[in-house]
Amino acid sequence: MRKNKILNIILICIALLLISILIFHQKDNKLYNYSNQIIEDEITEEDYFKSIKELEDKILNNESDKKIAYLTFDDGPYYNTYKVLDILDKYNVKATFFTTSINGEKCYDKRSQNCLLLYQEYYKRGHTIANHTYTHSIWRGLYKSSNSFIDAVLKQEEHVKNYADGYKTNIVRFPGGSNSAGKLKNEIIQKLRQNGYGWIDWTAYDGDGGKLKNKKQAWKNFTSTIDQNIEVILLHDYNSITTNLLPDIIEYLKNNGYELYPLFYESNMVNK
Ligand SMILES: [Zn+2]
Repeated sequence: MRKNKILNIILICIALLLISILIFHQKDNKLYNYSNQIIEDEITEEDYFKSIKELEDKILNNESDKKIAYLTFDDGPYYNTYKVLDILDKYNVKATFFTTSINGEKCYDKRSQNCLLLYQEYYKRGHTIANHTYTHSIWRGLYKSSNSFIDAVLKQEEHVKNYADGYKTNIVRFPGGSNSAGKLKNEIIQKLRQNGYGWIDWTAYDGDGGKLKNKKQAWKNFTSTIDQNIEVILLHDYNSITTNLLPDIIEYLKNNGYELYPLFYESNMVNK
């Protein structure tokens, strides 16, 4: 009798273990799907990015008149992130967010309460979450050595994983741009490669990371830097001038023949 009881307990334990593995596995699968919308359209994340890569190749080989713009937002999650996400939804545009948790940790948005919970919104709404280092401390230690930089990247990777249900980042943007790394740049790039990361700067901007006076100046900056068939546009989701200008930015790009996509590791624009 006692033996049977023990056997039953063992069987129940195994069953529970199997069920939990199954649940975890399903959850895991869900994470790597591109977005709810893509699932409805029955396009896998892999096929979606593959089709963008093919379009990029054609554009770069002058085999297509089409144009691509990658909207990228740095330094969030932070105040205004929700506004940016809602505008992107309204226009059905997917973008890329180069995240740093240093701002989000101090930020309590009315809607999200803790801004770090916005990590879930990024990926649920189909955007790419990229890595902008945990500390973003350009002048205080980030570029002290290649190890200090990589540590900040891996710490941010962990943070995103924790807050966005296991989402793994694989694209980095150097805070201040890659030239901020100075003579450490090559060493850092090598270590990024070893850790499975690509990196990217930008080709266009509205100047919202610097001293931007007003909407008019931002618009002038933006329109004067749009001159290539594939653009990577640097914006910041904390900046209210950009938030106010975003509908105009999207409409301008669409009216000028640009298709707007989120970035992905295999993109020609991502350095490896
Ligand atoms: Zn930044």
